[in-house]
Amino acid sequence: MSKQILVLPGDGIGPEIVAEAVKVLQVANDKFKLDIELSFDELGGAAIDKYGVPLADATLERARGVDAILLGAVGGPKWDKLEPSIRPERGLLKIRSQLGLFANLRPAILYSQLADASSLKPEVVSGLDILIVRELTGGIYFGQPRESKVLENGERMAYDTLPYSESEVRRIARVGFDMARVRGKKLCSVDKANVLASSQLWRAVVEEVAKDYPDVELSHMYVDNAAMQLVRAPKQFDVMVTDNMFGDILSDEASMLTGSIGMLPSASLDANNKGMYEPCHGSAPDIAGQGVANPLATILSVSMLLRYSFNQGAAAAAIELAVSKVLDQGLRTGDIYSAGMTKVGTQAMGDAVVEALRSL
Ligand code: NAD
Repeated sequence: MSKQILVLPGDGIGPEIVAEAVKVLQVANDKFKLDIELSFDELGGAAIDKYGVPLADATLERARGVDAILLGAVGGPKWDKLEPSIRPERGLLKIRSQLGLFANLRPAILYSQLADASSLKPEVVSGLDILIVRELTGGIYFGQPRESKVLENGERMAYDTLPYSESEVRRIARVGFDMARVRGKKLCSVDKANVLASSQLWRAVVEEVAKDYPDVELSHMYVDNAAMQLVRAPKQFDVMVTDNMFGDILSDEASMLTGSIGMLPSASLDANNKGMYEPCHGSAPDIAGQGVANPLATILSVSMLLRYSFNQGAAAAAIELAVSKVLDQGLRTGDIYSAGMTKVGTQAMGDAVVEALRSL
């Protein structure tokens, strides 16, 4: 039976970078006989323009019915003045939570060809290969109650709630251990257990899960120290597992170690490895429509899709190798350009990856 992928290009540079990723996916489909079928719909601002809401019910139903989703990015100034509940980002949060995509995998890999693009010294980052596993559907971004109010004395106040249940921690911890098991066998769980009750539970449950993974070396680190260690000596990490908010911040920090957010893919998985795949960056309205965006993060998201949702490791590795070959050829989009390289646009970069993949 064919495997179904729903493609949601989104806003800004989304349609431009997704078009290149789809070209690469189609070549991989032919080359590796993957039997993939694509369908297309809208999310975010494009969905607001077409359907009046950032995620239409019919789109959500379609997303439930497919095997995987490929997303560009959502948002942009055109929709920034809308009321928060119907802004583009709401569509993204809704599709993640409705599909139960609780495990966000964000690799931070430094391609050796781009070592100069990092703001850290090459010896600190060369060979960097970290995977951050972030809990995506719980914690403070979803916790209730949350409220902004005016006190009797006239002062404004607001609060959020950071809840985690044992089962939520257990399932994300398992993803962290499973990933560590097939990589460097080291898992660092990041929390703030010296202060937060939710982190104390987090740490206790991670310790319990560790008993099933005697082959994985577990360590714990407070989030403030983890933020510091990531810039001091990032290569000490293999897999990091952490909650929603800490993961949001640390994964952005880790992404910059590699020099460009335009290179970094991500996966958000449910309990059955059904997933939504997207670049880590946003819709980059400042360069949208100019044909200069880097499509490699989205192309590498296709590689993650094939590996995690379709178990097609060989096809995934071929795409990664094709990307590496294109970097070897000296082709660079503006965000990763350095002197002596050949500057190319979005489409030329996509074409080069297609060519490299075909000729493998
Ligand atoms: P951004 O990631 O879109 O852009 C940050 C900077 O990186 C910009 O200078 C941009 O030009 C550059 N950049 C990003 N991707 C690039 C690429 N592929 N190639 C070259 N350069 C690239 O973040 P932002 O400016 O904070 O947000 C812009 C919009 O994107 C906002 O509406 C925001 O809400 C949305 N956003 C969406 C997602 C998502 O869809 N998952 C994530 C983050 C931000």
